[in-house]
Amino acid sequence: MDSSNAQAIPPKLQGFLSEHGTIEWVTPASPEYAAIRWAFARLPDVNPCVIVRPPTIPEAVTLVAFLIANGIPFTVRAGGHDNFGRSFQDQGVTLDLRLINHVEIDPSGETVRIGGGALLGDVIPKLHEQGLMAATGTISVVGYVGWALYGGYGPYSTQFGLGVDQIRAAKVINAQGELMDADADLLRAIRGAGGAFGVIAEITVPVHCLKKILAGILFFESSDLPAVIRQYNHGYQALSAEGIPSALNLQQVVINTPTGKAFIVLFLWGSPDLDTGRIWLDKVSTLAPVAFNSVQETTPPAWLDEASRLSPKDSRGRVWTINIRQLTDEVVHVMGTYTTKMSSDPRVLFATHELRPASPSAHPTPDSVFPCREGHYMFEIIGATDTPEDLDAILAWGQEFQTALARTDPGNILDAPYMSLSAPEELDTTKVFGEDYEFLAELKRTRDPRGVFDAAIPQF
Ligand SMILES: Cc1cc2nc3c(=O)[nH]c(=O)nc-3n(C[C@H](O)[C@H](O)[C@H](O)COP(=O)(O)OP(=O)(O)OC[C@H]3O[C@@H](n4cnc5c(N)ncnc54)[C@H](O)[C@@H]3O)c2cc1C
Repeated sequence: MDSSNAQAIPPKLQGFLSEHGTIEWVTPASPEYAAIRWAFARLPDVNPCVIVRPPTIPEAVTLVAFLIANGIPFTVRAGGHDNFGRSFQDQGVTLDLRLINHVEIDPSGETVRIGGGALLGDVIPKLHEQGLMAATGTISVVGYVGWALYGGYGPYSTQFGLGVDQIRAAKVINAQGELMDADADLLRAIRGAGGAFGVIAEITVPVHCLKKILAGILFFESSDLPAVIRQYNHGYQALSAEGIPSALNLQQVVINTPTGKAFIVLFLWGSPDLDTGRIWLDKVSTLAPVAFNSVQETTPPAWLDEASRLSPKDSRGRVWTINIRQLTDEVVHVMGTYTTKMSSDPRVLFATHELRPASPSAHPTPDSVFPCREGHYMFEIIGATDTPEDLDAILAWGQEFQTALARTDPGNILDAPYMSLSAPEELDTTKVFGEDYEFLAELKRTRDPRGVFDAAIPQF
């Protein structure tokens, strides 16, 4: 491909690439560079000297083995949706896995093999062609493996479990540059600590028969935001006490619309029994006055597309997160106060993901190091803008919102935050992994003694 800026590439790598013509690559001088470099976190000063794009797993293995043998550091990118841009380093080498995006259903029809660079939007439509479905996050352009490695919350989390618990098997390019089937220790480590142990070339996850769902958005009447959030949550606690079917997922979000701030609930009923889903839609719709309701019979890929439209396409700013056990009156009060103070910038939003105690992931498991093994709400505070002069005020708001939540009852806050949404400098990995930290640190020492994957999340 391009060679006009080739002096910026490590000379040995340049030689390797000229001998391996099937591996695509771009440099900052390439016309396609900006499009291929694009990622969610807008970091104009972070520009890899070369982005290399192997089209197959064997070519990725050859490339990674070469980089390791020649001591050339690299980062790994897939969907590019890390909020802190951790899949790139300025002037570094980026391994872009997006051409390795196969979605192959096994003959048994029970599992699917997903390439390390496939996006949620590659996986869900492909499965739907066969009437199948797998656990997924909310936004189609996020990488499936990147989403699953560190947790993987989504609209089917209560029903199928988190993304991290979907990983039945994995093919990993290890620190010696060899492709291996992950053994029990490696599987346990990548289920929560992911890319720190290798390039994940492929994962195998279970599939489910699910063709039709009931999904859409309930826009609640939001002229008094604290009041509607309080009213909805009081009603929701009462419904929870009755017992909510695992097919029902409700995600509370506050967004800016052209007519002002709106408290919305993403409703998803993920079972073929749509009549029961409609009964639950009626129950949820009476929790507070509804201004508009778009819930309808749809399909998993159509809903993935629709929900994706709610998210900003990229971001100059940052995200904050905190994991809360219960939406107590104190927490709901903070939610109402800070969403009222929220900037009207369309890129600013507040969202919750709920992992209900009934989820298969809400129980300790020895086969994973993902820490948050109980029912909880994962909060996502997005403070971003396209208007540079507004950025400081928006960042101050996000920080204050998180601080106010962190000052609520400490017994209601989980020790570990969601790593994918946590700033690296604020992350204490000993605290995040608790009892599993020593296992991980020892595995890192033995499997990656030269620190080949030290740029990955998490850092030890
Ligand atoms: C708009 C938006 C919506 C989101 N929605 C959700 C959501 O609904 N639920 C949720 O749980 N999270 C969500 N997230 C967080 C997201 O799941 C994580 O940030 C995830 O790690 C992104 O993966 P990626 O491949 O898109 O990003 P990348 O930036 O490409 O990768 C993220 C990290 O994973 C590593 N990685 C990715 N693939 C591989 C691989 N194959 N092998 C080794 N390492 C790899 C990268 O090196 C990097 O460190 C969202 C983030 C954004 C920005």
